[in-house]
Amino acid sequence: MVMTAREVDPRVQAFLGGGPKRLLIGGDFVEAASGKTFATHDPATGDRLAEVAEGDAADIDRAVQAARRAFDGGPWPAMTAAERSRLIWRLADLIEERSEVFAQLETLDNGKPLTVARRDDVGGTVEYFRYYAGWPTKIEGATVPVSVADTFAYTLRQPVGVCGQIVPWNYPLMMAAWKVAPALAAGCTVVLKPAEQTPLSAILLGELCLEAGIPPGVVNVVTGYGETAGAALAAHPHVDKVAFTGSSEVGRLILRAASQSNLKKVSLELGGKSPNIVFADADMDAAREGAAAGIFYNMGQDCTAGSRVFVEHGIYDDVAQFIADQAAKLRVGPGFDEATEIGPLVSQEQLDRVLGYIELGPGEGARILSGGGRAEGAELQKGFFVKPTVLANARNDMRVAQEEIFGPVVSVIPFRDVEDVVRQGNDIAYGLGAGIWTKNLAKAHRVASALRAGTVWVNTYGATDAALPFGGFKESGHGREMGFEAIHLYTEVKSVWVNLAES
Ligand code: NAP
Ligand code: MG
Repeated sequence: MVMTAREVDPRVQAFLGGGPKRLLIGGDFVEAASGKTFATHDPATGDRLAEVAEGDAADIDRAVQAARRAFDGGPWPAMTAAERSRLIWRLADLIEERSEVFAQLETLDNGKPLTVARRDDVGGTVEYFRYYAGWPTKIEGATVPVSVADTFAYTLRQPVGVCGQIVPWNYPLMMAAWKVAPALAAGCTVVLKPAEQTPLSAILLGELCLEAGIPPGVVNVVTGYGETAGAALAAHPHVDKVAFTGSSEVGRLILRAASQSNLKKVSLELGGKSPNIVFADADMDAAREGAAAGIFYNMGQDCTAGSRVFVEHGIYDDVAQFIADQAAKLRVGPGFDEATEIGPLVSQEQLDRVLGYIELGPGEGARILSGGGRAEGAELQKGFFVKPTVLANARNDMRVAQEEIFGPVVSVIPFRDVEDVVRQGNDIAYGLGAGIWTKNLAKAHRVASALRAGTVWVNTYGATDAALPFGGFKESGHGREMGFEAIHLYTEVKSVWVNLAES
Protein backbone atom coordinates (compact mmCIF):
# COMPACT_ATOMS: atom_id res chain seq x y z
CA MET A 1 0.00 0.00 0.00
CA VAL A 2 1.24 3.44 -0.84
CA MET A 3 0.52 5.96 1.87
CA THR A 4 -0.10 9.50 0.82
CA ALA A 5 0.56 12.66 2.75
CA ARG A 6 -3.15 12.95 3.43
CA GLU A 7 -3.01 9.95 5.76
CA VAL A 8 -1.05 11.59 8.52
CA ASP A 9 -1.60 9.81 11.84
CA PRO A 10 -4.22 11.69 13.92
CA ARG A 11 -1.75 11.81 16.83
CA VAL A 12 0.70 13.62 14.54
CA GLN A 13 -2.02 16.03 13.49
CA ALA A 14 -2.85 16.65 17.14
CA PHE A 15 0.83 17.27 17.91
CA LEU A 16 1.17 19.72 15.03
CA GLY A 17 -2.10 21.54 15.75
CA GLY A 18 -2.91 23.61 18.81
CA GLY A 19 -0.57 26.55 18.64
CA PRO A 20 3.19 27.01 18.58
CA LYS A 21 5.35 24.27 20.09
CA ARG A 22 6.98 25.48 23.29
CA LEU A 23 10.31 25.11 25.04
CA LEU A 24 10.71 22.51 27.78
CA ILE A 25 12.37 24.17 30.77
CA GLY A 26 12.37 22.77 34.28
CA GLY A 27 9.48 20.43 33.51
CA ASP A 28 7.21 23.15 32.08
CA PHE A 29 6.36 23.95 28.49
CA VAL A 30 6.95 27.67 28.12
CA GLU A 31 7.12 30.32 25.43
CA ALA A 32 10.42 31.92 24.53
CA ALA A 33 11.16 34.92 26.76
CA SER A 34 11.06 37.09 23.63
CA GLY A 35 7.68 35.63 22.63
CA LYS A 36 9.14 34.91 19.18
CA THR A 37 8.45 31.79 17.11
CA PHE A 38 9.75 30.41 13.84
CA ALA A 39 8.28 28.01 11.28
CA THR A 40 9.46 24.53 10.44
CA HIS A 41 8.67 23.22 6.97
CA ASP A 42 8.04 20.01 5.05
CA PRO A 43 10.95 19.69 2.60
CA ALA A 44 8.79 17.65 0.18
CA THR A 45 6.38 20.54 -0.38
CA GLY A 46 7.84 23.62 1.27
CA ASP A 47 4.62 23.82 3.33
CA ARG A 48 4.73 25.12 6.89
CA LEU A 49 4.30 22.30 9.42
CA ALA A 50 4.25 24.17 12.71
CA GLU A 51 5.40 27.26 14.56
CA VAL A 52 8.06 26.61 17.17
CA ALA A 53 9.30 28.80 20.03
CA GLU A 54 12.47 30.69 19.08
CA GLY A 55 14.61 30.27 22.17
CA ASP A 56 17.66 32.51 22.50
CA ALA A 57 20.30 33.33 25.11
CA ALA A 58 17.72 34.25 27.76
CA ASP A 59 15.95 30.91 27.39
CA ILE A 60 19.22 28.99 27.35
CA ASP A 61 20.07 30.69 30.60
CA ARG A 62 16.73 29.66 32.14
CA ALA A 63 17.20 26.09 30.89
CA VAL A 64 20.77 25.88 32.19
CA GLN A 65 19.59 27.11 35.59
CA ALA A 66 16.89 24.44 35.63
CA ALA A 67 19.39 21.75 34.63
CA ARG A 68 21.82 23.09 37.24
CA ARG A 69 19.19 22.84 40.00
CA ALA A 70 18.22 19.35 38.86
CA PHE A 71 21.86 18.32 38.99
CA ASP A 72 23.10 20.12 42.10
CA GLY A 73 20.17 19.44 44.40
CA GLY A 74 17.75 17.28 42.47
CA PRO A 75 16.88 13.62 42.78
CA TRP A 76 18.40 12.47 39.48
CA PRO A 77 22.12 12.10 40.24
CA ALA A 78 21.26 10.98 43.79
CA MET A 79 18.79 8.27 42.85
CA THR A 80 19.90 4.67 42.84
CA ALA A 81 21.41 3.33 39.66
CA ALA A 82 18.62 0.77 39.36
CA GLU A 83 15.96 3.48 39.55
CA ARG A 84 17.68 5.55 36.86
CA SER A 85 17.95 2.46 34.75
CA ARG A 86 14.22 1.73 35.05
CA LEU A 87 13.25 5.27 34.05
CA ILE A 88 15.45 5.22 30.94
CA TRP A 89 13.96 1.84 30.00
CA ARG A 90 10.46 3.25 30.48
CA LEU A 91 11.37 6.14 28.17
CA ALA A 92 12.43 3.58 25.53
CA ASP A 93 9.06 1.82 25.92
CA LEU A 94 7.19 5.10 25.47
CA ILE A 95 9.18 5.95 22.32
CA GLU A 96 8.41 2.48 21.00
CA GLU A 97 4.69 2.95 21.70
CA ARG A 98 4.82 6.22 19.71
CA SER A 99 7.01 4.77 16.94
CA GLU A 100 4.65 5.70 14.15
CA VAL A 101 4.21 9.23 15.49
CA PHE A 102 7.96 9.77 15.67
CA ALA A 103 8.53 8.24 12.23
CA GLN A 104 5.93 10.47 10.60
CA LEU A 105 7.26 13.55 12.38
CA GLU A 106 10.78 12.75 11.12
CA THR A 107 9.54 12.28 7.56
CA LEU A 108 7.48 15.46 7.64
CA ASP A 109 10.20 17.59 9.21
CA ASN A 110 13.30 16.14 7.53
CA GLY A 111 11.92 14.63 4.31
CA LYS A 112 13.44 11.17 4.70
CA PRO A 113 11.57 8.08 3.48
CA LEU A 114 9.03 6.92 6.06
CA THR A 115 10.21 3.31 5.69
CA VAL A 116 13.72 4.38 6.72
CA ALA A 117 12.46 6.64 9.54
CA ARG A 118 10.49 3.74 11.03
CA ARG A 119 13.20 1.13 10.78
CA ASP A 120 16.40 3.06 11.42
CA ASP A 121 15.68 6.40 13.05
CA VAL A 122 12.97 5.30 15.45
CA GLY A 123 13.84 1.61 15.74
CA GLY A 124 17.49 2.53 16.32
CA THR A 125 16.54 5.14 18.92
CA VAL A 126 14.52 2.65 20.97
CA GLU A 127 17.39 0.15 20.97
CA TYR A 128 19.83 2.89 21.83
CA PHE A 129 17.89 3.99 24.94
CA ARG A 130 17.54 0.34 26.00
CA TYR A 131 21.29 -0.19 25.67
CA TYR A 132 22.03 2.82 27.89
CA ALA A 133 19.25 1.87 30.30
CA GLY A 134 21.53 -1.03 31.20
CA TRP A 135 24.53 1.14 32.03
CA PRO A 136 23.75 2.94 35.32
CA THR A 137 24.31 -0.24 37.33
CA LYS A 138 27.61 -0.92 35.56
CA ILE A 139 29.49 2.38 35.89
CA GLU A 140 32.34 1.30 38.13
CA GLY A 141 35.49 2.76 39.55
CA ALA A 142 38.58 0.75 40.49
CA THR A 143 40.73 -0.01 43.50
CA VAL A 144 44.29 0.88 42.62
CA PRO A 145 47.51 -0.49 44.12
CA VAL A 146 49.36 2.80 44.70
CA SER A 147 52.91 2.37 46.01
CA VAL A 148 52.41 4.23 49.25
CA ALA A 149 52.36 2.33 52.52
CA ASP A 150 49.16 2.14 54.57
CA THR A 151 47.09 3.64 51.78
CA PHE A 152 43.83 2.62 50.23
CA ALA A 153 43.19 4.28 46.86
CA TYR A 154 40.18 3.99 44.64
CA THR A 155 38.45 5.79 41.81
CA LEU A 156 34.85 6.93 41.48
CA ARG A 157 33.27 7.64 38.13
CA GLN A 158 30.82 10.51 38.62
CA PRO A 159 28.51 12.44 36.28
CA VAL A 160 30.20 15.38 34.55
CA GLY A 161 27.24 17.65 35.36
CA VAL A 162 25.08 19.87 33.17
CA CYS A 163 25.44 18.97 29.50
CA GLY A 164 24.65 21.19 26.52
CA GLN A 165 23.80 19.01 23.53
CA ILE A 166 23.56 20.53 20.05
CA VAL A 167 22.35 18.24 17.28
CA PRO A 168 21.87 18.45 13.49
CA TRP A 169 18.93 17.78 11.20
CA ASN A 170 19.99 14.64 9.30
CA TYR A 171 18.78 12.16 11.97
CA PRO A 172 16.98 14.51 14.36
CA LEU A 173 15.65 11.97 16.88
CA MET A 174 18.57 9.56 16.65
CA MET A 175 21.19 12.30 17.10
CA ALA A 176 19.30 13.49 20.18
CA ALA A 177 19.21 9.90 21.47
CA TRP A 178 22.96 9.41 20.91
CA LYS A 179 23.54 12.32 23.25
CA VAL A 180 20.70 12.21 25.77
CA ALA A 181 20.81 8.45 26.53
CA PRO A 182 24.41 8.16 27.80
CA ALA A 183 24.11 11.49 29.65
CA LEU A 184 21.07 10.18 31.51
CA ALA A 185 22.74 6.86 32.21
CA ALA A 186 25.69 8.70 33.74
CA GLY A 187 23.41 10.82 35.96
CA CYS A 188 23.87 14.11 34.10
CA THR A 189 21.24 16.71 33.29
CA VAL A 190 20.74 18.08 29.80
CA VAL A 191 19.87 21.13 27.74
CA LEU A 192 19.14 19.87 24.22
CA LYS A 193 19.20 22.24 21.22
CA PRO A 194 17.79 20.57 18.08
CA ALA A 195 18.44 21.94 14.59
CA GLU A 196 16.19 24.77 13.42
CA GLN A 197 15.19 22.70 10.35
CA THR A 198 13.95 19.71 12.41
CA PRO A 199 12.88 20.67 15.94
CA LEU A 200 9.72 18.55 16.25
CA SER A 201 10.88 15.10 17.36
CA ALA A 202 13.08 16.59 20.11
CA ILE A 203 10.04 18.35 21.58
CA LEU A 204 8.09 15.09 21.65
CA LEU A 205 11.09 13.34 23.17
CA GLY A 206 11.07 15.97 25.93
CA GLU A 207 7.37 15.30 26.59
CA LEU A 208 8.03 11.57 26.89
CA CYS A 209 10.91 12.13 29.32
CA LEU A 210 8.40 13.75 31.69
CA GLU A 211 5.81 11.05 31.05
CA ALA A 212 8.42 8.39 31.84
CA GLY A 213 8.94 9.98 35.25
CA ILE A 214 12.37 11.47 34.63
CA PRO A 215 12.36 14.40 37.09
CA PRO A 216 11.66 17.95 35.86
CA GLY A 217 14.79 19.84 34.80
CA VAL A 218 16.77 16.71 33.93
CA VAL A 219 16.00 17.05 30.22
CA ASN A 220 15.34 20.54 28.89
CA VAL A 221 14.69 21.26 25.22
CA VAL A 222 15.36 24.70 23.75
CA THR A 223 14.44 25.12 20.09
CA GLY A 224 15.95 28.04 18.25
CA TYR A 225 18.81 29.11 16.00
CA GLY A 226 22.41 28.04 16.21
CA GLU A 227 23.89 31.54 16.19
CA THR A 228 21.77 32.56 19.19
CA ALA A 229 20.56 29.59 21.26
CA GLY A 230 23.35 27.21 20.21
CA ALA A 231 26.10 29.77 20.71
CA ALA A 232 24.72 30.75 24.15
CA LEU A 233 24.74 27.11 25.23
CA ALA A 234 28.34 26.58 24.09
CA ALA A 235 29.44 29.74 25.91
CA HIS A 236 27.39 29.34 29.11
CA PRO A 237 29.61 29.41 32.21
CA HIS A 238 27.42 26.94 34.15
CA VAL A 239 27.45 24.21 31.51
CA ASP A 240 30.01 21.53 32.38
CA LYS A 241 30.15 19.81 29.02
CA VAL A 242 28.96 20.44 25.50
CA ALA A 243 28.42 17.69 22.94
CA PHE A 244 27.97 18.70 19.32
CA THR A 245 27.26 16.98 16.01
CA GLY A 246 27.33 19.01 12.80
CA SER A 247 29.69 20.90 10.54
CA SER A 248 33.41 21.33 11.20
CA GLU A 249 32.91 25.07 10.89
CA VAL A 250 30.53 25.19 13.84
CA GLY A 251 32.68 22.62 15.68
CA ARG A 252 35.47 25.19 15.68
CA LEU A 253 33.10 27.84 17.08
CA ILE A 254 32.07 25.47 19.89
CA LEU A 255 35.70 24.85 20.86
CA ARG A 256 36.38 28.57 20.84
CA ALA A 257 33.30 29.30 22.98
CA ALA A 258 34.37 26.63 25.48
CA SER A 259 37.90 27.96 25.65
CA GLN A 260 36.71 31.54 26.13
CA SER A 261 34.23 30.70 28.88
CA ASN A 262 34.69 28.06 31.59
CA LEU A 263 36.82 25.50 29.67
CA LYS A 264 33.87 23.13 29.63
CA LYS A 265 34.52 19.64 28.27
CA VAL A 266 33.78 19.32 24.56
CA SER A 267 33.01 16.34 22.35
CA LEU A 268 32.54 16.83 18.63
CA GLU A 269 31.17 14.59 15.91
CA LEU A 270 31.86 16.44 12.70
CA GLY A 271 31.75 15.78 9.02
CA GLY A 272 33.42 13.25 6.78
CA LYS A 273 34.35 12.44 3.23
CA SER A 274 34.69 8.74 3.64
CA PRO A 275 36.50 6.46 1.18
CA ASN A 276 34.61 3.32 0.12
CA ILE A 277 37.20 1.11 -1.58
CA VAL A 278 36.37 -1.57 -4.15
CA PHE A 279 39.23 -3.99 -4.90
CA ALA A 280 39.14 -6.11 -8.04
CA ASP A 281 39.07 -9.28 -5.92
CA ALA A 282 35.83 -8.33 -4.13
CA ASP A 283 32.49 -10.12 -4.31
CA MET A 284 31.53 -7.77 -7.10
CA ASP A 285 27.74 -7.86 -6.69
CA ALA A 286 27.99 -7.01 -2.99
CA ALA A 287 30.71 -4.41 -3.52
CA ARG A 288 28.93 -2.50 -6.27
CA GLU A 289 25.68 -2.45 -4.34
CA GLY A 290 27.49 -1.46 -1.17
CA ALA A 291 29.20 1.40 -2.99
CA ALA A 292 25.85 2.73 -4.24
CA ALA A 293 24.00 2.27 -0.95
CA GLY A 294 26.93 3.80 0.96
CA ILE A 295 26.35 7.17 -0.68
CA PHE A 296 22.63 7.29 -1.47
CA TYR A 297 21.32 6.21 1.96
CA ASN A 298 19.52 9.14 3.64
CA MET A 299 20.06 11.12 0.40
CA GLY A 300 23.74 11.28 1.22
CA GLN A 301 22.97 13.49 4.23
CA ASP A 302 25.05 11.28 6.44
CA CYS A 303 28.33 12.07 8.14
CA THR A 304 29.73 8.65 7.13
CA ALA A 305 28.40 8.75 3.54
CA GLY A 306 30.81 6.86 1.29
CA SER A 307 31.19 9.91 -0.91
CA ARG A 308 34.58 8.94 -2.36
CA VAL A 309 34.28 5.57 -4.05
CA PHE A 310 37.74 4.27 -4.99
CA VAL A 311 37.75 1.57 -7.67
CA GLU A 312 40.72 -0.53 -8.70
CA HIS A 313 41.99 -0.15 -12.27
CA GLY A 314 40.55 -2.78 -14.57
CA ILE A 315 37.08 -2.80 -12.99
CA TYR A 316 36.66 0.98 -12.87
CA ASP A 317 34.30 1.40 -15.83
CA ASP A 318 32.13 -1.51 -14.79
CA VAL A 319 31.71 -0.34 -11.18
CA ALA A 320 31.17 3.31 -12.08
CA GLN A 321 28.52 2.32 -14.62
CA PHE A 322 26.81 0.01 -12.12
CA ILE A 323 26.56 2.81 -9.52
CA ALA A 324 25.23 5.14 -12.21
CA ASP A 325 22.59 2.58 -13.23
CA GLN A 326 21.58 2.10 -9.59
CA ALA A 327 21.34 5.87 -9.16
CA ALA A 328 19.05 6.13 -12.16
CA LYS A 329 16.79 3.37 -10.80
CA LEU A 330 16.29 4.87 -7.33
CA ARG A 331 12.80 6.18 -6.91
CA VAL A 332 12.77 9.88 -6.01
CA GLY A 333 9.65 11.20 -4.30
CA PRO A 334 8.02 12.42 -1.11
CA GLY A 335 9.14 10.48 1.97
CA PHE A 336 5.52 9.76 2.89
CA ASP A 337 5.16 7.60 -0.24
CA GLU A 338 6.26 4.15 0.90
CA ALA A 339 7.77 3.37 -2.51
CA THR A 340 10.20 6.32 -2.21
CA GLU A 341 13.90 5.56 -1.92
CA ILE A 342 15.24 9.10 -2.26
CA GLY A 343 13.32 11.85 -0.49
CA PRO A 344 13.98 15.58 -0.69
CA LEU A 345 17.02 17.25 0.83
CA VAL A 346 16.26 18.99 4.09
CA SER A 347 16.16 22.62 2.90
CA GLN A 348 16.56 25.09 0.08
CA GLU A 349 19.98 25.89 1.48
CA GLN A 350 21.10 22.26 1.19
CA LEU A 351 19.56 22.00 -2.30
CA ASP A 352 21.52 25.07 -3.44
CA ARG A 353 24.69 23.75 -1.87
CA VAL A 354 24.39 20.32 -3.49
CA LEU A 355 23.45 21.74 -6.91
CA GLY A 356 26.48 24.01 -6.65
CA TYR A 357 28.77 20.99 -6.27
CA ILE A 358 27.01 19.17 -9.12
CA GLU A 359 27.84 22.15 -11.33
CA LEU A 360 31.37 22.34 -10.02
CA GLY A 361 32.25 18.69 -10.82
CA PRO A 362 32.34 18.93 -14.63
CA GLY A 363 34.23 22.24 -14.36
CA GLU A 364 36.96 20.35 -12.50
CA GLY A 365 37.06 17.62 -15.15
CA ALA A 366 34.65 15.03 -13.72
CA ARG A 367 32.01 13.47 -15.96
CA ILE A 368 28.37 13.16 -14.91
CA LEU A 369 27.42 9.51 -15.48
CA SER A 370 23.99 9.78 -13.91
CA GLY A 371 21.74 12.41 -12.34
CA GLY A 372 23.14 15.91 -12.47
CA GLY A 373 20.42 18.26 -11.27
CA ARG A 374 16.99 18.65 -9.71
CA ALA A 375 14.56 15.79 -10.01
CA GLU A 376 11.97 16.13 -12.74
CA GLY A 377 8.20 15.83 -12.38
CA ALA A 378 5.71 18.59 -11.70
CA GLU A 379 4.83 17.27 -8.23
CA LEU A 380 8.46 17.50 -7.11
CA GLN A 381 9.13 21.13 -8.03
CA LYS A 382 7.94 22.63 -4.75
CA GLY A 383 10.27 20.38 -2.75
CA PHE A 384 14.05 20.12 -2.51
CA PHE A 385 14.53 17.03 -4.69
CA VAL A 386 17.79 16.27 -6.42
CA LYS A 387 18.69 13.31 -8.64
CA PRO A 388 21.27 10.88 -7.26
CA THR A 389 24.41 11.90 -9.11
CA VAL A 390 27.53 10.00 -10.09
CA LEU A 391 30.71 11.90 -10.97
CA ALA A 392 33.11 9.63 -12.87
CA ASN A 393 36.73 10.32 -13.83
CA ALA A 394 37.07 12.12 -10.52
CA ARG A 395 40.43 12.79 -8.87
CA ASN A 396 41.02 12.90 -5.14
CA ASP A 397 42.33 16.47 -5.32
CA MET A 398 39.14 17.89 -6.83
CA ARG A 399 36.94 20.01 -4.57
CA VAL A 400 34.03 17.60 -5.18
CA ALA A 401 36.24 14.87 -3.67
CA GLN A 402 37.70 16.91 -0.80
CA GLU A 403 34.69 18.86 0.49
CA GLU A 404 31.67 17.43 2.28
CA ILE A 405 28.72 17.82 -0.11
CA PHE A 406 26.16 16.20 2.21
CA GLY A 407 23.91 15.12 -0.64
CA PRO A 408 23.44 12.18 -3.03
CA VAL A 409 26.58 12.94 -5.03
CA VAL A 410 29.48 10.52 -5.31
CA SER A 411 32.96 10.96 -6.77
CA VAL A 412 34.25 7.72 -8.31
CA ILE A 413 38.05 7.70 -8.31
CA PRO A 414 40.39 5.07 -9.81
CA PHE A 415 43.38 3.57 -7.95
CA ARG A 416 46.30 1.27 -8.82
CA ASP A 417 47.12 -0.80 -5.73
CA VAL A 418 46.94 -0.97 -1.93
CA GLU A 419 49.62 1.62 -1.35
CA ASP A 420 48.01 4.04 -3.79
CA VAL A 421 44.51 3.74 -2.31
CA VAL A 422 45.70 4.04 1.29
CA ARG A 423 47.58 7.20 0.37
CA GLN A 424 44.63 8.70 -1.51
CA GLY A 425 42.08 7.52 1.04
CA ASN A 426 44.00 9.27 3.83
CA ASP A 427 44.75 12.38 1.79
CA ILE A 428 41.88 14.41 3.26
CA ALA A 429 41.19 16.52 6.35
CA TYR A 430 38.49 14.13 7.58
CA GLY A 431 38.67 10.67 9.17
CA LEU A 432 35.20 9.43 10.08
CA GLY A 433 34.41 6.24 8.14
CA ALA A 434 35.89 3.97 5.48
CA GLY A 435 34.77 0.88 3.55
CA ILE A 436 36.84 -1.95 2.12
CA TRP A 437 35.52 -4.54 -0.33
CA THR A 438 37.79 -7.55 -0.92
CA LYS A 439 37.80 -11.34 -0.42
CA ASN A 440 41.45 -11.22 0.66
CA LEU A 441 41.32 -11.29 4.46
CA ALA A 442 44.92 -10.28 5.06
CA LYS A 443 44.58 -7.32 2.72
CA ALA A 444 41.32 -6.27 4.40
CA HIS A 445 42.93 -6.15 7.85
CA ARG A 446 46.06 -4.42 6.55
CA VAL A 447 44.06 -1.68 4.87
CA ALA A 448 41.68 -1.38 7.86
CA SER A 449 44.69 -0.70 10.05
CA ALA A 450 46.25 1.80 7.63
CA LEU A 451 43.17 3.97 7.03
CA ARG A 452 42.91 6.94 9.39
CA ALA A 453 39.22 6.67 10.23
CA GLY A 454 37.14 6.13 13.35
CA THR A 455 35.10 3.31 11.80
CA VAL A 456 36.11 0.85 9.08
CA TRP A 457 33.57 -1.47 7.45
CA VAL A 458 34.84 -4.59 5.67
CA ASN A 459 32.49 -6.06 3.06
CA THR A 460 29.63 -4.03 4.51
CA TYR A 461 29.03 -0.30 4.91
CA GLY A 462 27.43 2.16 7.29
CA ALA A 463 26.21 0.00 10.18
CA THR A 464 26.30 1.45 13.69
CA ASP A 465 25.45 -0.19 17.01
CA ALA A 466 24.94 1.26 20.45
CA ALA A 467 27.68 -1.02 21.81
CA LEU A 468 30.44 -0.05 19.37
CA PRO A 469 32.35 3.26 19.66
CA PHE A 470 31.71 5.85 16.96
CA GLY A 471 33.58 9.06 16.15
CA GLY A 472 36.31 10.60 14.08
CA PHE A 473 40.04 10.89 13.53
CA LYS A 474 41.48 14.23 12.41
CA GLU A 475 38.92 16.98 11.67
CA SER A 476 36.02 14.55 12.00
CA GLY A 477 35.86 15.11 15.71
CA HIS A 478 36.90 14.78 19.32
CA GLY A 479 35.89 11.82 21.47
CA ARG A 480 33.79 8.72 20.84
CA GLU A 481 30.08 8.19 21.30
CA MET A 482 28.39 4.79 21.91
CA GLY A 483 29.46 1.90 24.06
CA PHE A 484 31.39 2.57 27.25
CA GLU A 485 33.19 5.40 25.43
CA ALA A 486 30.07 7.55 25.74
CA ILE A 487 29.91 6.82 29.47
CA HIS A 488 33.47 8.19 29.58
CA LEU A 489 32.28 11.36 27.82
CA TYR A 490 29.65 11.98 30.47
CA THR A 491 31.62 11.08 33.59
CA GLU A 492 34.58 12.44 35.52
CA VAL A 493 37.01 10.17 37.31
CA LYS A 494 37.74 11.02 40.92
CA SER A 495 40.74 9.49 42.72
CA VAL A 496 40.34 9.03 46.47
CA TRP A 497 43.29 8.57 48.87
CA VAL A 498 42.65 7.10 52.30
CA ASN A 499 45.33 6.95 54.98
CA LEU A 500 44.98 3.62 56.77
CA ALA A 501 47.86 4.14 59.23
CA GLU A 502 47.00 3.89 62.90
CA SER A 503 47.79 7.18 64.62
P1 NAP B 1 25.54 23.17 11.49
O1 NAP B 1 25.36 24.64 11.32
O2 NAP B 1 26.84 22.67 11.95
O3 NAP B 1 24.34 22.69 12.45
C1 NAP B 1 24.43 21.74 13.47
C2 NAP B 1 23.83 22.27 14.77
O4 NAP B 1 24.64 23.34 15.27
C3 NAP B 1 22.44 22.85 14.61
O5 NAP B 1 21.68 22.58 15.76
C4 NAP B 1 22.74 24.32 14.50
O6 NAP B 1 21.65 25.14 14.82
C5 NAP B 1 23.84 24.49 15.50
N1 NAP B 1 24.65 25.70 15.33
C6 NAP B 1 24.83 26.47 14.23
N2 NAP B 1 25.64 27.50 14.49
C7 NAP B 1 26.01 27.41 15.79
C8 NAP B 1 26.83 28.18 16.65
N3 NAP B 1 27.45 29.27 16.22
N4 NAP B 1 26.98 27.78 17.93
C9 NAP B 1 26.36 26.67 18.39
N5 NAP B 1 25.55 25.91 17.61
C10 NAP B 1 25.37 26.27 16.33
O7 NAP B 1 25.18 22.45 10.15
P2 NAP B 1 24.20 22.97 8.98
O8 NAP B 1 24.41 24.42 8.71
O9 NAP B 1 22.84 22.53 9.34
O10 NAP B 1 24.75 22.12 7.77
C11 NAP B 1 25.90 22.57 7.08
C12 NAP B 1 26.81 21.43 6.75
O11 NAP B 1 27.22 20.78 7.94
C13 NAP B 1 26.19 20.32 5.94
O12 NAP B 1 26.12 20.60 4.59
C14 NAP B 1 27.10 19.18 6.25
O13 NAP B 1 28.26 19.26 5.46
C15 NAP B 1 27.47 19.41 7.69
N6 NAP B 1 26.65 18.59 8.60
C16 NAP B 1 27.23 17.53 9.20
C17 NAP B 1 26.47 16.72 10.02
C18 NAP B 1 27.06 15.53 10.69
O14 NAP B 1 26.33 14.61 11.06
N7 NAP B 1 28.35 15.47 10.91
C19 NAP B 1 25.13 16.99 10.26
C20 NAP B 1 24.56 18.12 9.65
C21 NAP B 1 25.34 18.90 8.83
P3 NAP B 1 20.61 25.64 13.68
O15 NAP B 1 20.40 24.53 12.71
O16 NAP B 1 19.42 25.93 14.45
O17 NAP B 1 21.20 26.87 13.06
MG1 MG C 1 11.64 21.13 8.99
